[in-house]
Amino acid sequence: MNTDKLSVRLAAVAKYVPEGARMADIGSDHAYLPCFLAKNTSIPFAIAGEVVEGPFKSAKNNVMSEGLTEVISVRLGNGLEVIRPEEVDCITIAGMGGALIASILENGKDKLSTVKRLVLQPNISANSIRKWFLENNWQLIAEEILEEDGKIYEVLVAEQGNPLKSYSSNLDLGLLMGPFLLQNQNEAFWKKWEAEKNNWLKIYKQLENAAQTQETIEKKEELLNKIKMVEEVFAR
Ligand code: SAM
Repeated sequence: MNTDKLSVRLAAVAKYVPEGARMADIGSDHAYLPCFLAKNTSIPFAIAGEVVEGPFKSAKNNVMSEGLTEVISVRLGNGLEVIRPEEVDCITIAGMGGALIASILENGKDKLSTVKRLVLQPNISANSIRKWFLENNWQLIAEEILEEDGKIYEVLVAEQGNPLKSYSSNLDLGLLMGPFLLQNQNEAFWKKWEAEKNNWLKIYKQLENAAQTQETIEKKEELLNKIKMVEEVFAR
């Protein structure tokens, strides 16, 4: 991967950044995504945000060596704190766990009022982000699931709006598996949920051999519910 050729995963994120967007890429690492967008699309401005010194320096070096310092501002800081009010209308956050992405959004809520689109790529726990969207009036408008180098990734795209609009009657199922992904199932989707289901079954069996406290019983019930949901989807 470099600033000219993104991984399949980051290319799927790039696709959802609107032409002409003023964007911030949080947790940008080498700043491959904003560099690619600045070179290949019409974005007028980008922030590459990084909380760790090493990746921040490599982002700075890449932006400088590509001659993109007029377009991309590389900033060291935690989450959305690198964004000034009303500075961007699109935010991307990729390559982290869903719970961390949701906490970055939660802690930076004051920066989101003028943001029109979020493009998020959790490596795990996409459901934490869907739940955050639901609680904060962001409406999912697209989702993708893909496999690259044996790992499965999801991309979630949302705009401000009524979050319930994206879901059919079964909200729990939609939050877990993704309303758009359920409508458009592919190989990566089946592979992911087969593996999740097998993992839950393994945990369930371990819990059966443990002391049956209230906590164990509730955990087993939660696992059974999720296993049943996945099996029902597979049986359709
Ligand atoms: N976004 C790139 C991608 O998808 O290829 C890099 C992903 S890398 C695995 C995650 C990056 O996020 C790391 O460079 C890490 O330092 C950064 N990061 C983690 N938490 C962060 C936070 N709260 N604010 C800004 N950057 C963060």
